[in-house]
Amino acid sequence: MDLGLSNRVALVAASSKGLGRGVAAELAKEGAKLVICARGSTALRDAEQTIARESGTSVVAVQADLAQQGGAEAVVQAGMDAFGRIDILVNNAGGPPAGLFEQHTMDDWDKAIHLNFRSALTLIRQVLPGMKQRRWGRILNITSIAVKQPVDNLILSNSVRAAVTGMARTLANEVAPFGVTVNNLMPGYTRTRRVEELAEAMAQQQNKEPEDIFGSWESQIPMGRLGTPYEFAGLAAFLVSERASYVTGVSIQVDGGWIRSLL
Ligand code: NAD
Repeated sequence: MDLGLSNRVALVAASSKGLGRGVAAELAKEGAKLVICARGSTALRDAEQTIARESGTSVVAVQADLAQQGGAEAVVQAGMDAFGRIDILVNNAGGPPAGLFEQHTMDDWDKAIHLNFRSALTLIRQVLPGMKQRRWGRILNITSIAVKQPVDNLILSNSVRAAVTGMARTLANEVAPFGVTVNNLMPGYTRTRRVEELAEAMAQQQNKEPEDIFGSWESQIPMGRLGTPYEFAGLAAFLVSERASYVTGVSIQVDGGWIRSLL
């Protein structure tokens, strides 16, 4: 299947590691030009060079903190300077810390909102006018399985993902007449640095080893294992492609069967 991504310009947020990097690499393989970003420079440079070498595409890497004022704007501006437009936006960021309701301060809530909700809003606000004008655009938000089934001990993440989903489902209807689609992908347990850190934190709390935590997650997943960013990226590439032109307003899980509901 030709996804029609050749020469499209894709901004993949938070993409030096993990899911974002997996999606960026997949889009590059399909011929899209890339704008990637992250806070730190080492992994970002590695992602930029590796993806450009393996795909032969143009990659612009921007060091920016999406949770800080001006961070999202700087990433979009760098993309506009390099390519003149953004056709595809994949919203992503790090995850908020684990914890129970009574363990979080109001400052923790504000930070989670800035990191996972406001960063998406800001990026969308920057790229949407151009997409509408060209009557073609793809917005894909990376949320979490928590949208369908909240994950214990992750109240910050569970709450802000729901906000992104509400915004996205409403926006999808507003921009559909302009050829712009808005969808969400919900990763299940996928082996990345974020998940390793969660396992380490939980192991410490429970006086266990991280491998015990991985084992308990694997036992909840019908596939019996965690996913990989590569497995997640295939569906992301399809949803931002030409071929997904009539798919909008959906949230789809990539979770090895973890969510048990019918829909
Ligand atoms: P990760 O820690 O492996 O990678 C996160 C990436 O985001 C890195 O490139 C990091 O540099 C970048 N980043 C973090 N904070 C940033 C900021 N403020 N500004 C710019 N860049 C930033 O994480 P991941 O596992 O790939 O997770 C990505 C998202 O998906 C997170 O929001 C996470 O909570 C969510 N998620 C992950 C899983 C999973 O199992 N991996 C499951 C559900 C939801």
